[in-house]
Amino acid sequence: MTSTKHSELTDHKVGDLMIPSEKVAHVQLGNPLEHALLVLVKSGYSAVPVLDISYKLQGTISKTAILNSVLGLERFEMEKLSDIKVDHVMNQNVPFLHRDDDFVTSVKSVVDFPFVCVADEEGYFDGILTRRAILKQLNKYIHANRNKPEMES
Ligand code: AMP
Repeated sequence: MTSTKHSELTDHKVGDLMIPSEKVAHVQLGNPLEHALLVLVKSGYSAVPVLDISYKLQGTISKTAILNSVLGLERFEMEKLSDIKVDHVMNQNVPFLHRDDDFVTSVKSVVDFPFVCVADEEGYFDGILTRRAILKQLNKYIHANRNKPEMES
């Protein structure tokens, strides 16, 4: 396989493949869980980014984490959803990318996550990169190259 074929794939930067912030559903730190669950259920997403009021990335929140937080001994205590804030339940320990990161870095980052947030140097939210976007590129590459003869570089 030639290095030229490889470069068609690896030339992609995170910024070329990400969903930009204005198209990403998100919640804010001080929102009640009720609002976050509404956003998640209505959008159909399993998790969304959490931002502060200046749109800096703070973490992610998932349906599972929300439901776990109101799980009582015998039932979901849904009445608690309006009292608990997003910042009590969100996952702060999430990796993030920069829009200039290369393809190989993005592939690694989505191995363990269905999506990874993208932020700038100051932490302002830029968008998300999904595993789906990465797999689409890999799929295109495999199909485009499967019938080409292998060449030594
Ligand atoms: P997908 O690759 O479309 O299946 O998305 C994987 C996950 O990425 C979803 O379950 C969401 O957690 C997140 N996601 C994808 N698109 C968006 C979006 N537009 N807004 C917020 N989260 C998203």
